[in-house]
Amino acid sequence: MKPHRNESGLQPVFRFAPSPNGELHLGHALSAIVGHDWARRTGGRFLVRIENIDQSRARPDFESSILDDLAWLGLKWEEPVLRQSEHFDVYRRAADQLAALGVLYPCFATRSEIAVGVAARVAAGRPEERDPDGAPLYPGLHKAMSGEEFARRIAAGERPAYRLDMERALAIADERLSGLQLTFHEISAGGAISRIVANPARWGDVVLVRKDTPTSYHLSVVVDDARQAVTHVTRGQDLYPATDLHRLLQVLLDLPEPVYHHHQLLLGPDGRKLAKSMGAPRLKDLRRAGVTPEEVRQMLGLQTAPRAE
Ligand code: GLU
Repeated sequence: MKPHRNESGLQPVFRFAPSPNGELHLGHALSAIVGHDWARRTGGRFLVRIENIDQSRARPDFESSILDDLAWLGLKWEEPVLRQSEHFDVYRRAADQLAALGVLYPCFATRSEIAVGVAARVAAGRPEERDPDGAPLYPGLHKAMSGEEFARRIAAGERPAYRLDMERALAIADERLSGLQLTFHEISAGGAISRIVANPARWGDVVLVRKDTPTSYHLSVVVDDARQAVTHVTRGQDLYPATDLHRLLQVLLDLPEPVYHHHQLLLGPDGRKLAKSMGAPRLKDLRRAGVTPEEVRQMLGLQTAPRAE
């Protein structure tokens, strides 16, 4: 594993990266506290990053309420907080780097065209493959679009998304890894490290630059973890499969490899991820009901806050 080296040597760097599309729930508190406490215990740094690339859903009032909740929990992070919406140029450059490798292609396909393409693939006897988020794998429409067609559509005011050509991307990664397997390192709460073989192919030709915003979650998270020198990515298990893709992008963009810790998810009474389940208690409501930050930790099965160094 290529170690990170930042100005502080090998000091570990942790982050909590909420999307300000809503209020924080108990599940978010778990993610934030896991990263924060780990940083405290190891003399590391703790960052908060606002993942607000989705300008139609992200709201400044959610952002301030997230920061309020984190402060109420007793967490301390470094300023300034990085807001992804202020760095679209950086993600554009990363996309350009991928384009220069020949692993991005423009895709004008609409949702309904994609649905038709998927149905045609199934009708032709191909199995219905789905990505880890449950979406059907992209059927490859527009993959071989001519330059003239591209220019015609752009002139007509259409805007493309840009997808990863997974096959080419895997071939380049294979070459760069000299045939070694693409892997990531998962670290347990107790510090045991397992080497996991990544299988990014299961994502198919994912969108890396969306039509409505010049990046995507996958592209910006990888770019930011690297430029913020994050050494430990701590997040929920729902993002475990995304790590396969993140590792592939790190290899293509020549970025260092952090270690990953995917903590267990809190589930709601309906068995769904707490944040998505109906009755997920918002931190704000707990606070209003007189619950203390210490009690939140107890509800999460966490220990008392470690002392700051
Ligand atoms: N912004 C993502 C979310 O709120 C988390 C990204 C990550 O931790 O990698 O689900």
